[in-house]
Amino acid sequence: MTRWFHYGAAVVLTFSGAARASAQAKPLASGDVPKIYERLLKQIDQIPIYDNHSHATFPDDSDMDAMASPPDQSTVLRLRDANPEFVAAAKALFGYPYEDFQPEHAKWLIEKKKAAEASGGTAYWDSILDKLKIETCLANRVALAPYLDPKRFHWVFFVDSFLFPFDNHSQAARNGDMGVYVPLQEKVLQRYMKQEGMSGLPADLAGYEAFVRQTVADNQKKGGVAMKFEAAYFRSLYFRDPPRELAEAIYAKFHSGGVPPEEEYRTFQDYLFRVLIDQAGNLKLCVHFHSAVGTGDYFSLRNGNPLNLENVVRDPRYSNVKFVLIHGGYPYTLDMIWMTAAKNVYTDSSLMGYYVYPSELKNILKQWISLYPEKIMFGSDAFPFNDAVGAEETFWLAARSARTAIAAALAELVSEGAFSEEKALELAHLYLHDNAARLYGEMK
Ligand SMILES: [Zn+2]
Repeated sequence: MTRWFHYGAAVVLTFSGAARASAQAKPLASGDVPKIYERLLKQIDQIPIYDNHSHATFPDDSDMDAMASPPDQSTVLRLRDANPEFVAAAKALFGYPYEDFQPEHAKWLIEKKKAAEASGGTAYWDSILDKLKIETCLANRVALAPYLDPKRFHWVFFVDSFLFPFDNHSQAARNGDMGVYVPLQEKVLQRYMKQEGMSGLPADLAGYEAFVRQTVADNQKKGGVAMKFEAAYFRSLYFRDPPRELAEAIYAKFHSGGVPPEEEYRTFQDYLFRVLIDQAGNLKLCVHFHSAVGTGDYFSLRNGNPLNLENVVRDPRYSNVKFVLIHGGYPYTLDMIWMTAAKNVYTDSSLMGYYVYPSELKNILKQWISLYPEKIMFGSDAFPFNDAVGAEETFWLAARSARTAIAAALAELVSEGAFSEEKALELAHLYLHDNAARLYGEMK
């Protein structure tokens, strides 16, 4: 017994000696990475997830997003229908008995989901979250759905529609993508006007601003925790700072008709954008931006580059506003983590966690977690691909990818001597849960 004790003590001594010797991080991991990975993954699999961005929905619910994908767009390899990981997801979640989604097989899955939708209630989506150990989830939707439990799903509502109050014919005519997006924005604006009991646009800018501010406040009262801009799909994320008089004159000229020239429409949008940011600050609402490449044939990488937002997120007038630049700025992920150096800026790994396989997500997360581990969050961007492969399967893919990628990133860092396994688990908690829980006020 005594001998055993001494033997144990000797081992501990050797171990701590080794830890001291490797206090300086090495550029190469040792051969122990797979073992450390397995130990970490086992514990990381138990961490409840806070999902910063999803479109939790049944596939026939048009409220899932304020926009739609243009037809025939090019899709990255991993998101094509033939990805076998979707079969793995359906097997893990539902015990799917087939190896592909041939129509006669997919029917099995579609019927199961239709039955869940028909049965009503919130138990189904709660059970999907439970299976994936997702504790809380933001649902970025036009409206919250009756089948989503408000205790688990918090609402992120869209605000881009406020940027399109005028005659949008020339906006919609710019290209095929805008032809799809702009009418949908008009629909959301109409819906907000109806919500606020308005039959037409107010007569002046003051009235329009009051309507915008009131709608945002009412959405917060309905449970909204953040406003979301998909502006990168429509225009540059660089917002200038025009004087109010200019916006007032443009509103007076076009609120009752007439197609605004591009420059004037943009000036109006730049101004109105700042009204929304200001209101977010007043109400302590977070502000989400789509900040990554996007779908469509005309998406501008240059316009969507999150660096365009620097003048806004670093503006002292908005230091009380929490900005969440979702999708990691992909492919500008290194620029993105440096943007989070600002106290009020956060990012998440939603969407990009689908674009790349876990081996590459690991590389990105390794860089992020080594720089600002308190500013990064998990996000799934779960959404339905078709009637068979739904948000359920994409939740699964995102959660599995992120848990394995963060475990691998941390295993390498531990093996390289950056920090201990204990510290690694602490960092995994920040990424998967704690940073988001703190940001949305659910954790001190
Ligand atoms: Zn999304």
